[in-house]
Amino acid sequence: MKQIYTLADLQMWRRAKPPIRLGVLGHPVAHSLSPEMQNAALKETRIAMQSARFDIFPDELEPALGLLTQLEFVGVNLTVPHKVAAVTFVDEVDDLAREVGAINTIKCEAGRLCGFNTDGGGFARAIREEFAVDLRDLRILLLGAGGAARAIAWQCAKENCERLVVANRDAGKGTALVEQLRPFFAGPRVLGPVARLQSIALEEAALRFQIANTDLVVNATPLGLNRNDSLPIPVRLLEPHLMIYDTVYSSRPTAFVSGAIESGARAANGLSMLLHQGALAFEIWFDRPAPIEAMRKALSVAAAASAA
Ligand code: NAP
Repeated sequence: MKQIYTLADLQMWRRAKPPIRLGVLGHPVAHSLSPEMQNAALKETRIAMQSARFDIFPDELEPALGLLTQLEFVGVNLTVPHKVAAVTFVDEVDDLAREVGAINTIKCEAGRLCGFNTDGGGFARAIREEFAVDLRDLRILLLGAGGAARAIAWQCAKENCERLVVANRDAGKGTALVEQLRPFFAGPRVLGPVARLQSIALEEAALRFQIANTDLVVNATPLGLNRNDSLPIPVRLLEPHLMIYDTVYSSRPTAFVSGAIESGARAANGLSMLLHQGALAFEIWFDRPAPIEAMRKALSVAAAASAA
């Protein structure tokens, strides 16, 4: 089995043993930990197939997806930059993924491709696991309005969270997301003078004003992926009553998580969201519970190896 396959490999497919019937499509894709996690799940459940990485350029996505059913794939995960474009290349999109406008999971069924988005569900499970709280009990400050943030925002809205504030660099994108979600926040909840749903600028003064009325801060920007990145919000704004969830993942605490812990807040990085979105994808592909502990262990080993 190769470390990374390409469209050319799919076009001249050589059957591996056990057969490759799952994968992750992205560009770049070398960093993805999805195959290790899914291969552990396949082994644990004694399903005789394996998952691989596919480096697919944006203009190769449509032909690559077209080959999946011919090659008897069960499904794939999608990562950057394919989540939005893939919506137009599949035969069906489930309701939530259509609302979010992005898919991260495809199931091949009876010659058709069905798209799903498990990022929001994975996020909800991760928050429950990390902080023992449900989204509906939380006042949430969400940093970002891209693909991951949109999935998270829709999940928060559907679970009727107490309050959602979206702070994005491009304020227009943040406002557009908030306007889509407005019907979910029309119900009466008594919160005092602050709005239940709001878009604000990603600026210190605007953020400072929100902290006292926030329980959970979520970083859904890529800030933190690179060593030299600034923090998504200054640590001086963080307070001990906060929970901080950084969707950026790593085997070590991210700089944002370390800063939050130093401020006395509780904090976790995005490995748990990665785990649970992968577990939900497995459940979609195979209609059975995912072996979560085997997947967690494999993910932790793979993350530590990639950080070494
Ligand atoms: P995306 O669609 O490209 O969106 C990126 C978002 O980050 C946009 O809102 C963008 O703001 C903002 N942003 C980008 N650079 C910024 C900067 N320098 N300063 C401030 N804001 C900035 O990407 P995505 O798919 O949402 O992914 C975002 C991150 O989520 C990924 O890097 C990854 O770490 C994380 N993620 C984690 C998981 C998981 O399972 N843990 C799953 C999916 C994603 P503008 O709108 O102003 O451009």
